[in-house]
Amino acid sequence: MRESTTPPGRLPPRVRIAPSPTGDPHVGTAYIALFNFVFARKYGGRFVLRIEDTDQERSTASSEAAILEALRWLGFEWEEGPDVGGPHGPYRQSERLGIYQAHVQRLLDGGHAYRCFCTRERLDALRREQIEAKASHLGYDGHCRALSPDEGARRAADGEAHVVRLRVPSEGETSFFDHLRQETIGFQNEQIDDQVLVKSDGFPTYHLANVVDDHLMGITHVIRGEEWITSTPKHVLLYRAFGWEEPCFFHLGLLRNTDRSKLSKRKNPVSIFHYRDLGYLPETLLNFMATLGFSMGDDRERFTLDEMITAFEWSKVSAGGPVFDAAKLDAFNGADIRAMDVDTLHRRLLETTLAPERLRALLFHAKERIARLDDVVPYISFAFGAEVDYGPVLDKVKIKKRSRQDVIDVLERFAEEIERDPAARTFEAAALEAFSRGFCERSGWKAKDLFTLLRIAVTGRTAAPPLFDTMAICGKDRCRLRIRDLIGVLGGVADW
Ligand code: GLU
Repeated sequence: MRESTTPPGRLPPRVRIAPSPTGDPHVGTAYIALFNFVFARKYGGRFVLRIEDTDQERSTASSEAAILEALRWLGFEWEEGPDVGGPHGPYRQSERLGIYQAHVQRLLDGGHAYRCFCTRERLDALRREQIEAKASHLGYDGHCRALSPDEGARRAADGEAHVVRLRVPSEGETSFFDHLRQETIGFQNEQIDDQVLVKSDGFPTYHLANVVDDHLMGITHVIRGEEWITSTPKHVLLYRAFGWEEPCFFHLGLLRNTDRSKLSKRKNPVSIFHYRDLGYLPETLLNFMATLGFSMGDDRERFTLDEMITAFEWSKVSAGGPVFDAAKLDAFNGADIRAMDVDTLHRRLLETTLAPERLRALLFHAKERIARLDDVVPYISFAFGAEVDYGPVLDKVKIKKRSRQDVIDVLERFAEEIERDPAARTFEAAALEAFSRGFCERSGWKAKDLFTLLRIAVTGRTAAPPLFDTMAICGKDRCRLRIRDLIGVLGGVADW
């Protein structure tokens, strides 16, 4: 066994995850959470959850609640966070605006930031010019850099719309050490944009809020995905401008599909709820994700979270692109189910797939349509399992005056647009119905035709309980999966 090495930075560590509540709880967030959590537990540190909701338009309370629920389902606990409080709160950025204002003033006073009054039109024209001229760097041209602070302050006081930008040194290089990769990563300053720190709505951008909070919350190690590597030099410049000690940075590899492209919902379900609702065991999902970037040091792939914590050290973590291989996850999950005794399996089913509230919702609809109690299981079977068999109903997918391509397009569009509708995204029956009716108006599809199609896609049947109740009971992820499956099946069918 390799000797245990002391990690860099201040110990015990204070680490955090900082999800933005703008969609479904993503497996990528769980992956990052896992490494933060394990590191904190290994060295007796604290794991903090912070909600980064500075994007006012895209952040929703329901997404925040879903993220917390999903992380708890996986077994994570945090010592500080918006729901449990803590000494460095509030833990929701939208409640910390005064803090950012005070800090940006410090940057303005020190000349590290400046007010920029450029209009959208000017910035758009600049961008077009840069693209046309094939400029090596697309970005702000520093037009407002020369404004005197007094003039900037006066125009701002007069109510003129503006943003605040970071004054990036025009020469030299900004670098940081990545402790996972064990290398110094440097960026030419001329390639770093004068990043907007405060938007015209007065809200901070991610960069400012993230650095201010990491400092004020005493974060010692920033462990996040590699998609933030290009942001880190901006953060380093901010730490220096404030005169603060930098945390240690670790950038983990981004989850990938088996073809090595970035994990995306087109190829792989990415919502943690998908895995929960289809009956993956949380401890198995965690073990699976751990194996993507961590090795125990021997060839053991099956281990518990506690075993991972005991064995953890950074030298066992790899930065290479972790491949989310769903077949491997299935193999792990199946093995874990087989290893359970029947009583445990029974108990776990009653907590999940066959939970009383779920069954009750199904029985409410089934009782109207069954003659014998025994009919109930075949009747409610559409609500279980990932796939349905479209074979028997495929000829019903033919909609008058609609080509097969129309059908494929409308299903795709429906599945995509639902994601962008904050109410429908919650998948409650009433919201689904309102959305679907609006969708029909927008797309020119008759409600009857579209609803038939959706019923077939979601249940594999032409008759089922009321469509929107059915969709709500099946759940968003199962519906999405099935709509995608039907699209695939149609792609394979000869032209109508
Ligand atoms: N809000 C960022 C996110 O959504 C946080 C990135 C970071 O950890 O710095 O992932």
